[in-house]
Amino acid sequence: MMAEVPTTVRAARAVQAERSVAALDDRMGGEHLPRRPQWDCLACGREWPCDPARVRLAEAYGDSRINLAMYVGSLLFVATAELSDADPAELHERFIAWTR
Ligand SMILES: [Zn+2]
Repeated sequence: MMAEVPTTVRAARAVQAERSVAALDDRMGGEHLPRRPQWDCLACGREWPCDPARVRLAEAYGDSRINLAMYVGSLLFVATAELSDADPAELHERFIAWTR
């Protein structure tokens, strides 16, 4: 079956974001995955990405900091939608700032 072709930038971003979320289990080796829609860690209960999750993601991307930032940016897109009460600036800090 052909996937529906997204017709807006926002729709395309949402499709990409869902793909990023679907890839998480593989990226994380099944450990320190986020519980959704709360976005806390299934393993240690801290806000996701917890420290072990950050280490794992950084290892997965190695020198590709831009790709890492793009990947967690995609996750941030989903988390922002699901954590509608959260401060967007704090979410940005939590998801993106550590990748620099
Ligand atoms: Zn954790």
